[in-house]
Amino acid sequence: MNDDRRFETKEIHTGPDDDAHGALTTPIYATATYEYDTPSDLRGDHRYSRMSEPTRDDLEAAFADLEGGTDASAFASGMAAIDAVFSLLSSGDRVVAGKNLYAETHELLANVYSEYGVEVEHVDITDADAIADAVTSETTMVYFETPTNPMLRIADIEAAAAVADANDALLAVDNTFASPYLQRPLELGADIVIESLTKYLGGHSDVIAGAVATRDDADLAEEIAYYQYARGGIPSPFDAFLVLRGMKTLSARMERHCANARAVAEFLDGHEKVERVHYPGLESHPNHEVAARQMADFGGMMSFELAGGIEEASDFVSNLDVVALAESLGGVESLAEQPATMTHQDFSADELADAGIPVSLVRLSVGTEHEDDLLADVEQAIETAFE
Ligand SMILES: *Cc1c(COP(=O)(O)O)cnc(C)c1O
Repeated sequence: MNDDRRFETKEIHTGPDDDAHGALTTPIYATATYEYDTPSDLRGDHRYSRMSEPTRDDLEAAFADLEGGTDASAFASGMAAIDAVFSLLSSGDRVVAGKNLYAETHELLANVYSEYGVEVEHVDITDADAIADAVTSETTMVYFETPTNPMLRIADIEAAAAVADANDALLAVDNTFASPYLQRPLELGADIVIESLTKYLGGHSDVIAGAVATRDDADLAEEIAYYQYARGGIPSPFDAFLVLRGMKTLSARMERHCANARAVAEFLDGHEKVERVHYPGLESHPNHEVAARQMADFGGMMSFELAGGIEEASDFVSNLDVVALAESLGGVESLAEQPATMTHQDFSADELADAGIPVSLVRLSVGTEHEDDLLADVEQAIETAFE
């Protein structure tokens, strides 16, 4: 890909340059296997669809390009992508990980990789000194999300990359809440970037997929591609097609997500029944400056605490009409959820407290509907909750 092109052009002009029929977009090749002419001569570039296939190849090339990377592997889900990254670890390795992790990522480390002998230390990733103190020459990997789920806290990726680098540890960043349109960790020094393609890249809440990209590190890229091939957690050609289609409108969608989210955050921030709004775009946010420095805009995700408690918060999310009550994020549809009872339902009260997640917290994934309809819906749902 021509590196001088802007993001908005690159995201659209992906796709086949060698399709036999001159298709403009990447077709779906519904075939498990590919023919040989003789046992030593494959007819084309592909052999067996778990190893590689044209639609996934195009998705991986486009994804690497948007992340500012050189190589990428696509997976059947964000979790399969994260599992491929953790597969780089061996028994005795030490991981320094964020405190607020996506719930299943937290579980994968606590319940699966700990069984394999991987040691994990959780730190507050907004505190660059805490990361510097935790990372030693024994550390193999530093792993976090920024913005975090569901508190929208921000880590300074460049500072963490310098610490990881000085200790010969890999820095892996889950970029799902930002998307590569707003933040490109590889350009800030991270070694590995992960996205749940289910979210902003797919963008339409109609597919589960994930991907990992790296930059100028052929050995690392090859190792991740090996786990994709050997463990077999690949996306189907149809899923790869859906994500490729979604990715072409990423920038246009993100601009609307960000504008709508800013309007909703400001509305909530000024509402007498709202105690606290967690949105990195607000100047009152504790990590606003880092966010302003490393993100192109502040994204479509936020969480907030209503006055009252868990009851009022439950009423609020149940009263929403335009905004759907559902887990997940990053689609064109606005979604609300209550972490304590939904996404983080497996956390005990102590674990929630330890992760700093108030039981009354509401998380919003602000979609691309008209701003006025979103504001009216949030307003009526608050009013009804306090009737
Ligand atoms: C959704 C999500 C994942 C997991 O992705 P799936 O596609 O659901 O497997 C991982 N990390 C973050 C931050 C997510 O939001």
